[in-house]
Amino acid sequence: MPDDDTDCSHCGETIPGQPIWWAPSHDRLAYLEEARDLGWFAHAPEAPLCRDCEARFRSLKAGSSTGVSFGDSNDQLDTELDPEQNELTEFLDELDLDAFRDKGMEH
Ligand SMILES: [Zn+2]
Repeated sequence: MPDDDTDCSHCGETIPGQPIWWAPSHDRLAYLEEARDLGWFAHAPEAPLCRDCEARFRSLKAGSSTGVSFGDSNDQLDTELDPEQNELTEFLDELDLDAFRDKGMEH
């Protein structure tokens, strides 16, 4: 596989040039592991995104983080995201998990 041809993990388009490597935050990762059965990574998983998808993801994040913190949920096993994060969840649901790579394996 040529190294310079990476497909976007969200829309599947071939990314011209350098992809944007997105490293999920702890919450997203927990969601991906629980809901999507994301495999285990020794270091930190990251996924390639094209500019369009990265921009979309950013806008979703901007819209959902209104500075309101729900605090630490007491012992809740299911990491349910609040309804306002539905779009964010959809975005996560659409990611191609096979596209994830481990950050520690760049060379
Ligand atoms: Zn894309």
